[in-house]
Amino acid sequence: MTSPRTDLREVHLHSILETIPEAMIVIDARGRILSFSAAAERMFGYAEQELLGENVSVLMPSPDRERHNGYIDNYLDSGERRIIGIGRVTTARHRDGSTFPIDLHVGEARIEGEPVFTGFIRDLTERQEAEHRLHDLQSELAHVSRITAMGTLATSIAHELNQPLTVIANYVEAARDMLVEPDPATLALVRETLDECAAQSVRAGQIVRRLRDFISRGETERGVESLARVIHEAIALALVGAGERAVEVELRLDPDADKVLIDRIQIQQVILNLVRNALEAMAECPVRQIRASSVREQGLVRVTIEDSGPGLAESVAAQLFQPFVSTKTEGMGLGLSICHTIVNGHGGRIWAEPSPLGGTAFHLTLIDGAGESDGGDGHG
Ligand code: ADP
Repeated sequence: MTSPRTDLREVHLHSILETIPEAMIVIDARGRILSFSAAAERMFGYAEQELLGENVSVLMPSPDRERHNGYIDNYLDSGERRIIGIGRVTTARHRDGSTFPIDLHVGEARIEGEPVFTGFIRDLTERQEAEHRLHDLQSELAHVSRITAMGTLATSIAHELNQPLTVIANYVEAARDMLVEPDPATLALVRETLDECAAQSVRAGQIVRRLRDFISRGETERGVESLARVIHEAIALALVGAGERAVEVELRLDPDADKVLIDRIQIQQVILNLVRNALEAMAECPVRQIRASSVREQGLVRVTIEDSGPGLAESVAAQLFQPFVSTKTEGMGLGLSICHTIVNGHGGRIWAEPSPLGGTAFHLTLIDGAGESDGGDGHG
């Protein structure tokens, strides 16, 4: 079968494979590994010699492991692209059985008329170098989440307090009016006291209102940021703790909708919360799919995080973004109310609806940063 021409090409290919820093794996239409780069050897813990001719599915956890040949057949039959030319974040399996999140891009080529697929893989945990960075990000996020949790608490306290205060103010004023007739000597005193009460109640209300305004405006550091970066990092963080079972993560990010005007850490917190919720919702599901997508829409960028889970429980659907609404035994029910506070503070909106993947789709809108200059004045 092999001609001198293919031999030459293979030698050439090998020399490329030895030197490129990204892990690169070439497979044929039946999923058999044709070559495995030096970086792939380091990433997966296998030597190329061990894997040549083996099915690429050994590098995947279940259920991809069992389904991968079906994916290729499906693509070759239907031409429907679920990954080729698109790229996605997914989970890979190391030789030692551990799993790690990867960013996978697959290209297709034909050699002697036969299709071959080339996968470029980036380890999203970048095990050695990036572990510190992940750790930093995690603690940064934990910090923000504490602050925003406090903000959310304060918002609900503010809301609760305002109602009785309004009632007190009305009551006191009514009492003052009712006392118009009796003994003129005490009347003056009662009126004075009640006036003071009313004034105090109004003042308390003002304090509460100011607190609420402060929280909703927040003190954020906004800049023009890359949405793809925010989403990649948030997904990698969420997947790090996701356990052994595979999650199919598909990214459909519109390159024209990449620039958004945000506080990066806060929006990362939102995406992280949404992805974690999606993973938690799918804990019992045999197939776990998450899709992150973005689109430019009426001067805004709409981001969607959706899953193939069971969908929203009826008991929470109506007050999803209220604090302390949870179906989880360990759940605080603060995640989505924090997301709501942050997105509103960014001038956007967040809402949920059923997803075509079978579970829930969370949509949020952000301010399009394409027209903004990131003048380096402390932003970003
Ligand atoms: P918590 O995760 O602590 O329960 P959240 O405010 O993040 O708090 O979520 C509130 C509730 O919303 C969850 O308990 C869950 O019932 C529901 N929920 C959130 N995301 C999803 C999702 N992707 N699929 C199904 N239900 C969800």
